[in-house]
Amino acid sequence: MRHQSSASQQSEVCLSIIIPMFNEAQSLDVLMQRLDRVLSTMPEHCELVFIDDGSTDNTWALLQQLRMSHGEHQCIKLSRNFGKEAALSAGLAQARGLAVILLDADLQDPPELIPQMLATWREGYEVVNMRRKKRLGETWFKRFSAGCFYRLMNVMSDSPVPENVGDFRLLSRQVVDHINAMPERNRFMKGILSWPGFTQTTIEFDRDPRSVGETKWNYGKLIGLAMDGITSFSFKPLRLATWFGVTIGLSSLIYGVWVVLKTLVFGEAVAGYASMMVVQLFLAGIQLLAIGLIGEYLGRVFMEVKQRPVFIVEEVYHQQSIPNTVVS
Ligand code: UDP
Ligand code: MG
Repeated sequence: MRHQSSASQQSEVCLSIIIPMFNEAQSLDVLMQRLDRVLSTMPEHCELVFIDDGSTDNTWALLQQLRMSHGEHQCIKLSRNFGKEAALSAGLAQARGLAVILLDADLQDPPELIPQMLATWREGYEVVNMRRKKRLGETWFKRFSAGCFYRLMNVMSDSPVPENVGDFRLLSRQVVDHINAMPERNRFMKGILSWPGFTQTTIEFDRDPRSVGETKWNYGKLIGLAMDGITSFSFKPLRLATWFGVTIGLSSLIYGVWVVLKTLVFGEAVAGYASMMVVQLFLAGIQLLAIGLIGEYLGRVFMEVKQRPVFIVEEVYHQQSIPNTVVS
């Protein structure tokens, strides 16, 4: 099997499952029951990598009490809430498996699909994308705005993001090493995970509603994420602004010649207050927008040059499996 000749041959762990957690104490019980049931059917040695993304509930305490009957688990506590993108980066840096799966803690991504993903990886695919066929438990507005986002992102971006594929996917060790080597601070994961390329395949699944609790994303955060996605992976918006400026500049030149001719030849002097106001306001709007756009990019350059770490690990806890124990 070709994957075993990979650079991390020394690693005993075949599969790492990365699970970011932000106030997910309520989900943990059901999550562990379902994961343990799946892992018990798999011959591969698996590790779970939990990242506590600065939870304010007792997620960290519960994680340390976890006892698994199959495989092992690592828990990483970040020093504060850095956001899901940073939590996933921390998990990818810590995972040791030859294959890595990113899984949400709220069971929206069914763990029962893991054996199928692993089988596909064994066929030789480096990346197994999981496309959501149905997004159960989400409002039509969320589905509609997600659709708009993917379309906009793919028009604007130079490295396309597969539509309706979330962070739930399998990556081979090779791909994970390349992602870990990417130095950028701005971790727009959907883009970063897709950027390395490699042989990919897609499996479709129905996305379940959240098991318990509420989504940690509000629309403000989602709009910020969309802006990050577009500005981190493309400078097409800037180019668009340039082309818009060129088009408006040329049209105003032609219009200017027409106005001068009208005044000199036909003697029509002051007129057209309304059209002047409209043109002026329109141009002022476009100028502000273009400046804002430059600011968005400049802000990102500012964040990058500071070279601050993407996340800070406060504590790491590692637990080997204890055979014949029941998951608490
Ligand atoms: N999450 C995180 N940090 C955050 C927000 C979310 O680690 O700041 C985790 C969360 O615990 C969950 C996953 O990211 O495991 C997906 O979050 P959520 O279900 O809230 O997002 P949605 O499914 O609505 O996109
Ligand atoms: Mg969710």
